Amino acid sequence: MAADERSSGYYNEAREIASMAAWRAYHDLQIKELAAKSYPKAPALMNMFERAGIKPTDINSVEDLEQLPVTTKSDLARLQAENPPFGGFLTVPVNQLKRIFMSPGPIYDPQGTANEFWGWSEGFYAAGFRPRDVVINTFGYQMTPAGLMFEESLLDIGCCIIPTGVGNTETQVKLMREMGVTGFVGMASFLRKIGETAIAQGLDPRKDLALEIGYVAAEILTDTLRSEVEEMFGMRLRQGYGTADCGCLAYECSERNGMHFTSNAYVEILDPRTRETMGPGEPGEVVVTLFNPTYPLLRFGTGDLSAYTIAECACGRTAPRLTRIMGRVDQVTKVKGMFVHPQQAQAVIAKFPQVKKFQIVVTRSDEIDSLTFKLEMAEAPSAGDPFYDEIGGAIQKGIKLRPRIEIIAPGTLAENCELILDERVWDK
Ligand SMILES: [Zn+2]
Repeated sequence: MAADERSSGYYNEAREIASMAAWRAYHDLQIKELAAKSYPKAPALMNMFERAGIKPTDINSVEDLEQLPVTTKSDLARLQAENPPFGGFLTVPVNQLKRIFMSPGPIYDPQGTANEFWGWSEGFYAAGFRPRDVVINTFGYQMTPAGLMFEESLLDIGCCIIPTGVGNTETQVKLMREMGVTGFVGMASFLRKIGETAIAQGLDPRKDLALEIGYVAAEILTDTLRSEVEEMFGMRLRQGYGTADCGCLAYECSERNGMHFTSNAYVEILDPRTRETMGPGEPGEVVVTLFNPTYPLLRFGTGDLSAYTIAECACGRTAPRLTRIMGRVDQVTKVKGMFVHPQQAQAVIAKFPQVKKFQIVVTRSDEIDSLTFKLEMAEAPSAGDPFYDEIGGAIQKGIKLRPRIEIIAPGTLAENCELILDERVWDK
């Protein structure tokens, strides 16, 4: 299939290219209806509203959601344990569900009867999946929802699926060759492994396999890994972001410049501690309200740290985009009002291969935070070496803070040392 055929069109044009005013009106209506219809059937919502001192009729717009608390993943696990099996969020009897899954936590994930319940079709289509693609789905099909979650949407689009699950790389290569597989769904690192297996068998993945399009999720996709895999197969690789509890929350389009918010949920970025709403470019926790009347999780805190942009996208979709997933909120440290995450720091340091190991130390004196990057290097650069400016600049660009750079002797840092050591002492 020609590349432009995979880039054009929309899964749900009316929603995806709606004006901001229409997009806003749609969200307000979804939230109003969700509160009104789910409240009488979901005891968890009744408790939540009662504690917040509001009634469902008080929820008429996205701003009104601010009156409700955020339910985190650990809150959900606790609520499910206290009030099994679904913590009072399920609005239908259990035997009216289509499927029930269990994710680590443990958390039970219900699947209702709605078509493509987790909403990945929009993302698959934007990535370039089309009817009659033959797709290997390498996510697991047992217990957790991943495999079937993606399968429902691939079927919805009109793809033919080979439910391979994880592992069996040689069999995956055989199936890809013999079935003319054009699409891959799974983790990028696994696709690279399949490619390496094919090469070890004397095959050229670009010529001997027909793979054109891939969709990856469940791990942070680095530019290096993406380019390596795209080059290896001569294909296009796009990513989506979602969770087992929520399904699809954001997805890349052909432009590959961030992940558009799904039209199946209202996405907020909040300060993980104060719950203040963060603006474009400011990192915070991804909190979502799914337009899902079967399992209405209002303001569900995913625990993932990200930021968004409202800049226009050449694909025509108007939804804001998550710029990237920066890691888990519980690993984040706030320094001078900016979030510093080990993964952000790793991404910056990876550009300097001469740095063997590093540790960030945060200290505070006279009520001012300071940030020191301790770097282990085989050879310490002399004073005035451009390395200091280069790495200082890269860190400032990556995490928006100016650090002090300290070169330490190789072997100083323990093998599994904390990447961020917070030595600040707070007033009692
Ligand atoms: Zn776009």
